[in-house]
Amino acid sequence: LGLENNHSIKGKNHQILSNDAGMYAPSKEEIKCTKESLPVFRCRSQLLSLIRENQVVVIIGETGSGKTTQLAQYLYEEGYTNSEGKSIVVTQPRRVAAMSVAKRVALEMDVKLGREVGYSIRFEDMTDSEYTKLKFVTDGILLRETLLDDTLDKYSCVIIDEAHERSLNTDILLGFFKILLARRRDLKLIITSATMNAKKFSAFFGNAPQFTIPGRTFPVQTIYTANPVQDYVEAAVSQAIKIHLANDCSSGDILIFMTGQEDIETTSDILQEKLLQVYSKKFGTEKFEDISDVEILPIYSALPADLQFKIFRDLCGTKRKIIIATNIAETSLTIKGIRYVIDCGYSKLKVYNPKIGLDSLTITPISKANADQRSGRAGRTGPGTAYRLYTEDTFKEDMYLQTIPEIQRTNLSNTLLLLKSLNVTDELIKFPFIDKPPLQTFLSSLYELWFIGALDIKGQLTPLGLQMAKFPLQPSLSKILLIAVQNGCSSEMLTIVSMLSVPQVFYRPKERQKEADIARNKFFIAKSDHLTLLNVFVQWRANKFSSQWCNKHFVQYKSLVKARDIRDQLLTILKSQDIPVTSSGKDWNIIKKCICSGFAHQAAKISGLRNYIHLKTGVNVKLHPTSALHGLGDLPPYVIYHELLMTSNEYICCVTSVDPFWLMEYGVLLYDIKRITHDQESDTTGLFGERHEHVIDEVEDEIDINIRVCK
Ligand code: ADP
Ligand code: MG
Repeated sequence: LGLENNHSIKGKNHQILSNDAGMYAPSKEEIKCTKESLPVFRCRSQLLSLIRENQVVVIIGETGSGKTTQLAQYLYEEGYTNSEGKSIVVTQPRRVAAMSVAKRVALEMDVKLGREVGYSIRFEDMTDSEYTKLKFVTDGILLRETLLDDTLDKYSCVIIDEAHERSLNTDILLGFFKILLARRRDLKLIITSATMNAKKFSAFFGNAPQFTIPGRTFPVQTIYTANPVQDYVEAAVSQAIKIHLANDCSSGDILIFMTGQEDIETTSDILQEKLLQVYSKKFGTEKFEDISDVEILPIYSALPADLQFKIFRDLCGTKRKIIIATNIAETSLTIKGIRYVIDCGYSKLKVYNPKIGLDSLTITPISKANADQRSGRAGRTGPGTAYRLYTEDTFKEDMYLQTIPEIQRTNLSNTLLLLKSLNVTDELIKFPFIDKPPLQTFLSSLYELWFIGALDIKGQLTPLGLQMAKFPLQPSLSKILLIAVQNGCSSEMLTIVSMLSVPQVFYRPKERQKEADIARNKFFIAKSDHLTLLNVFVQWRANKFSSQWCNKHFVQYKSLVKARDIRDQLLTILKSQDIPVTSSGKDWNIIKKCICSGFAHQAAKISGLRNYIHLKTGVNVKLHPTSALHGLGDLPPYVIYHELLMTSNEYICCVTSVDPFWLMEYGVLLYDIKRITHDQESDTTGLFGERHEHVIDEVEDEIDINIRVCK
């Protein structure tokens, strides 16, 4: 196991430092050699002539064949950016991929990232409008660019990468290009895809030619479990340890597929613990950091960028990498040296229930296509083994052939608002969708836009809707920002919206959970998680944006920096529209009321002492354990929430207490109010006239809000 190297202690911190200090930088010769060894290199000229002769080309190739990193460079070398002001844009469904690929291509071309080669993801632009010729962006960014310039004149070539993933934004882009290409005959569109779905893309663009990059893959042995697995985290950990102990480090790295950040972190923690037990029994090792031949590397989109890049480091066979990833590692990132894959069989998918109008992240079985793609990751450098933590019967009988495209399982209000403001078709339903969204979803998303005031009763964009579309935010967030402008608290709302746009503000290390919780509790204010976030930011600003302050208070410094950047960008958008930014000081109520204006459809009322009932759906929901409201004695009777999380329980996350009258004001289309009479006769007529500040506390037993029965 290479434990004789014990003296080279690699602690967690040490790894981060060494990674920051010096990423492995290959020589020019090495880079040239790697580039020329890629399967795509052998068909370079064939590909270029196909592109020259056709406006649209579909390119199919195994992961790692060089599609993402090489194609744009070939087009660049071929002179597609030589005309004045023209550049090439490559879209990715995932932010991490856009960043990491841009970084790689900049390295290969020996240029500084952000100059000739750059990337742009939501709230982070590393491009230079004058110099950047190759731009890697998320599909959402390109979609937003079409708002500013609907002919996309600055691009000579567009590469829609990872199209097989069928992300919502990619699908919409494809429809958009179907309309645009007729007007821009000079524009080249290249769609790259894994083998699944390729035919469909070609058919969508009038039988555009398909080109398959011949690739070499090694056989992968697939091993299923004999019986269904109870706990896939535990099963994955024990499989990884078995592989590690039975095979020499140089035999290859392990890639574990999990569903999301929580799973990944738990797997990583248990794996550390179990490995330490083994090493301690065998060699008396005391700390995990003293184990020198294994490195555990989590990767998910919310992970800070510098840690993400660690997965690409070449450890030269002295150490085994155990990478624990979401389906980001299925196709969009190529990691060398994987010989063992462990597949939990699930992924986290956004699922929308149009009947009740709820969007939630749900852990769902993967499709056969995903399973094969995952297994394939083990056979890139040599023959490999894939351990599937499910039975062969499950694979054969229960899994879909392919994942349902996002457009058919997600809320479309954001997308429809964007399409409305793009004005590409007179009626939204006529937009050329590659797969149509279900009518129910379509209608309930339109309903939501109408409910929050972005569309009028005829389905036309309202002035508010038009303004909302200018912000790269979900419609509800744009709305609360704009309503805050009207109510003189836009400064606070800018902060709240920015804080809601970053992952994980609070830090809760396993060993110091109690301490972390106490630190977090100190920020709680005004029966509101939203205001608590505001409070964190305000205090951080008062402490000169210090990182020490963050560490001391168990706050993620990087998240706050990100929130500050986002805030600056939203501020720029407000300023560009001459919208004033004002503060309401400590008037929490007005801020809460503005928050309510965008989330009245996501409200719940108390049921019993500690639970809530979703007002619109009648479903029982629980406060998420991290909510500030737990610190209170009694829970507030009415709340709105930012997100619904479905795990074993249905949790409402990021919650704020609201006055039921606000719910009536902003949700009058949805709710009915009823005054509950006690002994004396009630006077309902005066109800709305008698509002005052502490209405919740005073009338909480006397009114009841219920869902209005409406069509
Ligand atoms: P594809 O898009 O066809 O899956 P890529 O262009 O992403 O392939 O990757 C081609 C090759 O480029 C990989 O096999 C790998 O050797 C190299 N590569 C890609 N990204 C990185 C990176 N961030 N660091 C090091 N090598 C990379
Ligand atoms: Mg790729």
